[in-house]
Amino acid sequence: MDFTSQHDRFREQREAMVSSQLAARGIWDRRVLEAMVRVPRHEFVPESLRRDAYEDRPLPIGEGQTISQPYIVAAMLERLALQSTDRVLEIGTGSGYVTALLALICAEVYSVERHMQLAAFAETALNRLEYRNFRIRVGDGRLGWLEYAPFDAILVSAATREMPPALFGQMREGGRMMVPVGPSSDQELQLIRRINGRPEVRILEGCRFVPLVEGPENSG
Ligand code: SAH
Repeated sequence: MDFTSQHDRFREQREAMVSSQLAARGIWDRRVLEAMVRVPRHEFVPESLRRDAYEDRPLPIGEGQTISQPYIVAAMLERLALQSTDRVLEIGTGSGYVTALLALICAEVYSVERHMQLAAFAETALNRLEYRNFRIRVGDGRLGWLEYAPFDAILVSAATREMPPALFGQMREGGRMMVPVGPSSDQELQLIRRINGRPEVRILEGCRFVPLVEGPENSG
């Protein structure tokens, strides 16, 4: 990973975000912290919201969706114990911000988004910033991306009542998945490991994500 810092007018705000919102709350993984210093989060929000990009909350990105709060992103990435050789599946590309972080930390990122406009926005931003080791596909993320399976790690950025079985099937033995599980009002982050072909589930903190939608685009 190239940890050279990106210099832009938001650089100081980004460093403040990392120290006060992440490190101060217990995020310690150097790879995650450095990736979050490096990725220009303001490039992944609508232009009118750039000034708010480093605030301690989610922000709207269009289509009724949100870019997740920095802390929850960091917590999910840290718990996945990502390696530089990992091939990762992301469900819910949204803005592409997490895709960028994964692209810096890991070897290959495959990301599925059901909204065509969001996928196009994310792809444009990632190309502009010269990320190369990612692919985005428009489709139903509950089905994963069989062509590139098995994955070392899977990150689901939308909440589901039950972990989608196809995703578990595309995880390698010993692989890890982070997924918010539960109804819209009451979700918990689950860390699922595949051990001897079976899921081993650890329940982490409560969280609040937009739903992982069932059905084709624009149905919900
Ligand atoms: N990591 C993103 C989070 C976006 S919010 C970011 O920080 O910007 C969750 C995303 O999941 C939304 O973009 C939503 O459109 C997408 N999504 C919801 N259901 C989906 C499904 N079944 N398949 C693929 N993407 C889905």
